[in-house]
Amino acid sequence: MVKQSITLKAETEEIENIYPCTDKVFFVKIKCSNCGETPDKFIGLDKSNIEVVGKSNVNLLMKCKGCNRENSIVVEETNYSERTIESEKSFEIARFDCRGVEIEEFDPRDAWIVVSSSGKKYNDVDLTE
Ligand SMILES: [Zn+2]
Repeated sequence: MVKQSITLKAETEEIENIYPCTDKVFFVKIKCSNCGETPDKFIGLDKSNIEVVGKSNVNLLMKCKGCNRENSIVVEETNYSERTIESEKSFEIARFDCRGVEIEEFDPRDAWIVVSSSGKKYNDVDLTE
């Protein structure tokens, strides 16, 4: 069981905070820790998607094409709404409990909340540059 944090770093002048919407789907590329297989497409991690493995619930369950092992990921409950981020410093935007896989790449895409330094809140912002 490996907890992996996803952090972003950005020029955030005049921005107080950036954090994911509650229904945010996180797009990641994952690598199998067992055989190293890394599928070349992004997979969506969705908190509302629940699959049952044994006695635990996970948000993503997939069989590795390389070694056939069943790997899973749980999106941890996090709350980043009460913080002030600093420009050019990394800030955490998600934490995943990875079982059998590692996050290789993260694509921010849309569904972000951005709070400006004047306190204005922008919902559903697309961070794709
Ligand atoms: Zn594998």
